[in-house]
Order: sequence, then C-alpha cells, then structure tokens
Amino acid sequence: MTNTLFRNPEKTRPWSRSGDYKDMSNAKKTRFVRGPINGISEFKLGNGLKVLLVPDHSAAVVTTMVIYKVGSRNEGPGNTGSAHFFEHLMFKGSRRFHEGKGNNLDALLKQIGADYNAYTWNDETVYHEMVSSEYLELCLALEADRMRHLRVTREDRDSEMTVVRNEMEQGENHPSQVMSKKLWAAAFTQHPYHHDTIGSRTEVENVPLANMKAFYDLYYWPNNATLVVAGDFETAEALAKIEKHFGRLPRSPHKIPRVYTVEPVQEGENRFEIRRAGNLYRLSLGYHGPRATGSRQQQLPFQPTLQAPGGRRHRLQHLRLYPGHGRSRPDHTRHRPDPGSLSG
Ligand SMILES: [Zn+2]
Repeated sequence: MTNTLFRNPEKTRPWSRSGDYKDMSNAKKTRFVRGPINGISEFKLGNGLKVLLVPDHSAAVVTTMVIYKVGSRNEGPGNTGSAHFFEHLMFKGSRRFHEGKGNNLDALLKQIGADYNAYTWNDETVYHEMVSSEYLELCLALEADRMRHLRVTREDRDSEMTVVRNEMEQGENHPSQVMSKKLWAAAFTQHPYHHDTIGSRTEVENVPLANMKAFYDLYYWPNNATLVVAGDFETAEALAKIEKHFGRLPRSPHKIPRVYTVEPVQEGENRFEIRRAGNLYRLSLGYHGPRATGSRQQQLPFQPTLQAPGGRRHRLQHLRLYPGHGRSRPDHTRHRPDPGSLSG
C-alpha cells in the first residue's frame, strides 16, 4: 500500500469499503497523520487513539502492541503499585473474553500459540502479542475489549495478589534492584520517580478495589493509548479492523491527568548506604539526566567517569570496579517524559 492512498482519506477512504461496522461515527473521523517514515505510517482515530502501522511481509506473523501513557509516575501516596497491579488484572477477563464464557483472554492467547506479555514501568504500561497473521483481528478485538471493559473483581485481585507479592519479594532480595530503588528514592524527593514501579507493600496490599477501578477509569482510554501493529498485513484491511474494534470506544469524558511535579534542583550530593548480611559489595552512582523531549535530547552535558582503584579512569557505562565483581550500565537510554536519572 502506498502512502498516496492516504493523502486525502476523505475522498478515498479505502479501508471503509471492506468494513463491517455498526457505528462508524468515530471511524469516519480517522485521519492519516504522517508516513511512511522508515516503513511506519501514523493514523489517528476519531476517539484519539494513535495508530502506528508497520507492514512487513517477510514472515506470516503479526505483532500488536498497546501502549498506555500511564505508569508508576502517575501514582501518588496511597496507590503506589497500582499501574503494575492493573497490568496483571488486564489478563483476568473483560466483557467479551472471560472465564465464564469459556474464552478467558489468557487461555485464548495460549490456545492460538501467541507469544504475549506485558510490562509496566515508570512512564508506561504495555501489552503485546505476536501471533500468526490470521489472528490479527482476534488480538485487536481483545485489546479493544479490555481497554474499556475490564472486569475488575475481588476474586481476581486476591488471586493475583500472590503473584504480585512474589515479584515484590524477589525485588527485595535482588541487590541491584534494592540499590536502584534506593538510588531513585534519594535522587527524586518530590517527583513520583521517587517510588519504585512495584510500589509500597502496604499500599499494594491495602488499596481499596474501588480506588483501583478509579485508576483504570482515569487512564485506560483510547486517547491515552497508542496501538502499534507490525508484520504481515495489508494496511487498508488492518485499519478497517482497527476501526471496527477500537473505533466504537468513546474518548475519555475527562482530561487525562498530567504529572506536573518538577523535581527541585539538588543542592548537594545525596549519599546512602545499605548494610545487609553477606559479602557482596555494590556501588551505584546516579546523576540527574535530561528529559526525552526538547532539544538535544540525547546529549548529556558531561561524560561521567570514575576513578577506580589502581588509578584507571572508567566511563560510567563500562564501569568495572573490581575484576569479576560486576559491570553496570547506566539507565540513560530510556526516553522519559520527565528528567530521569543516569545511573549505574
Ligand atoms: Zn508483574
């Protein structure tokens, strides 16, 4: 499919002809935004869903990915860990796909041999499936359904609590995770990057279910998400399917809340020390880094180096303190909406 087909979607609208829609009110407003740039074309549905299509016919597989602009950065005291917990609940069941109907989302994906998963980080929550290309529409249907029609039940929450608690405990005993958590907490005193994505144990365990539902209703909307489809599909056909399933979802009735906290300038070096049993030594260094957006986003104002024992200077990204005792890479490769931390 060439780009010219979408230059004037109002006149051509090739994806509408094969569509099987009940409600075209949103779909009619789909617009081509730009592309292809490096094979990626961007569209915007009437309800605000951003769609990136990357056709590639080299193998008969297709990957769908839904990225929600919500992560632990959007949490506050009382509900830390909610974004991550929700990621788990998103596999429990939605209006069309759930245990009671015999088509539980998790089981369905396993049945069709999907390679699927999800992750939550400070700035985003992401769900993805790689399937044989004939199952593209199924993936779109279930992603659309759980975007607005998730079934949030106490049983599901209680059963998933064990899994989340287990992840939390793994992190509590992992030296690099313990250090990283503490380092970010020391570097960010006001900005929500202060707390870890897994959240505080007491808040994860005690946050009321109603608050979790409210969190979902605040952030899980098409106008706070990006859908990426890459692989073996025809653009017009895929767009018709996307409109069929996502086009009927409404835009959020409220403005998606934005984080406006700015970390104040640090006035000196922050240090911390963790003492635990064992003879493992670990050093972490962190510097405040730039935000992803804005000019010269990739540029750091300096190249941190460390004077290691023996007098050799090392760049931070190839830091090796003692031979055989670890190597660390800094976390400056992530593109963050707010200034993050360059640490290692
Ligand atoms: Zn998890």
